[in-house]
Amino acid sequence: MPIADEYIPNPNLKIWLDGKLVPVQDAKISVYDHGLLYGDGIFEGIRVYNGRIFETKAHIDRFYLSAKGLRLDIPFTPAQLTDAMLETVKVNGVKEGYIRMVCTRGVGTLGIHPFRTVSPSVFIITDRIAMFSPEMYENGMAVITASTIRNHPNALSPQIKSLNYLNNILAKIEAIDAGCLEAVMLNHEGFVAECTGDNFFIVSRGRVRTPAPHCGLLLGVTRNLIIRLARKRNLPVDEAELTRFDIYAADEAFITGTGAEVCPVVEIDKRKIGDGKPGPITRQLIADFRQYIKEGGDLGHAS
Ligand code: PMP
Repeated sequence: MPIADEYIPNPNLKIWLDGKLVPVQDAKISVYDHGLLYGDGIFEGIRVYNGRIFETKAHIDRFYLSAKGLRLDIPFTPAQLTDAMLETVKVNGVKEGYIRMVCTRGVGTLGIHPFRTVSPSVFIITDRIAMFSPEMYENGMAVITASTIRNHPNALSPQIKSLNYLNNILAKIEAIDAGCLEAVMLNHEGFVAECTGDNFFIVSRGRVRTPAPHCGLLLGVTRNLIIRLARKRNLPVDEAELTRFDIYAADEAFITGTGAEVCPVVEIDKRKIGDGKPGPITRQLIADFRQYIKEGGDLGHAS
């Protein structure tokens, strides 16, 4: 099947667009929208498990924080957007799936002036998601270190989940060229930041280690949950400056993200990590993560 066929949306799909549910064919954005012209906007990717929205508050909070970072005034309250997500999930009958919520700066002139736009636009899409193959979750994945460094936090902070993902896309191209699906990105000082669309963890001598926020990364909702789950197991967790050598010398590694969930990493730059198999702490944390989901996570709202 040609790749494009997979992406033809179900014609019955409804999109929430600026306060209304519209058929997917009618969910259109202007060519003058600054989200399209300049990547001027923000987004969230959120999971739906068993008809419930996962970690709703954390995602909503980050959405508003990203907006603040860009001086973007979202024309809806957090409560309105939470209800809008629930409505979209319900109308589309989503039980297991993914929500993409986007706010663009809206329609404006061709100049970049961000305050000469009519009004920011918000839309919510619900869909399915499958990031990696089941085999990768079972046996672990290979990654590379990208030569493209992560954005400098004083240029465009990686903490802002903006519509400008070119930094990540350039590193993802490197990964794909090397036959992988993820790449570790270093920061401007050479410390590990994160992956192109996921956070990165290693396990070394029983310690769970992940780059500290000041290393320049998105503060992933899944990252924060894994830190909480590890601490609950009394595993020491370090948020630290990590080097590429720390990864080479690690016993285990894994990535976390809303789409990816938790996936073991067993090879980097053609070097085996540990014994080249998903390690016991990684497996334990994956089991804890699945159990947390089964128990309803932060409970969200039943649809
Ligand atoms: N880093 C980047 C660059 C991301 O885009 C994402 C989300 N796909 C993550 C990390 C993981 O964040 P979360 O767990 O909140 O999905």
